[in-house]
Amino acid sequence: MRYIRKKQPDLQRAAPAEECARCGRELYPGNPCWRFWGRTLCEDCVVPWLLRELATHRGRAGEVEP
Ligand SMILES: [Zn+2]
Repeated sequence: MRYIRKKQPDLQRAAPAEECARCGRELYPGNPCWRFWGRTLCEDCVVPWLLRELATHRGRAGEVEP
C-alpha cells in the first residue's frame, strides 16, 4: 500500500484527552463523551451501559408490576 501524504494534520497525532472506561477508546479533544460517577464513556458505550444500569426499571407493556 502506498503512503499518501495527508494535507490535513492527522488527528491521531494529537494527544488523547481521555479514554473510555468501558472499551478503552481514546477520546481526543472535542470528541463527545459522557461522564458518570467519575467514569468517562464514549458514544458507542454510553447506550448499552445505560440500558444495563436501567435494567431494574425494565418491564413489559401490559404486565403488572410485581
Ligand atoms: Zn467506549
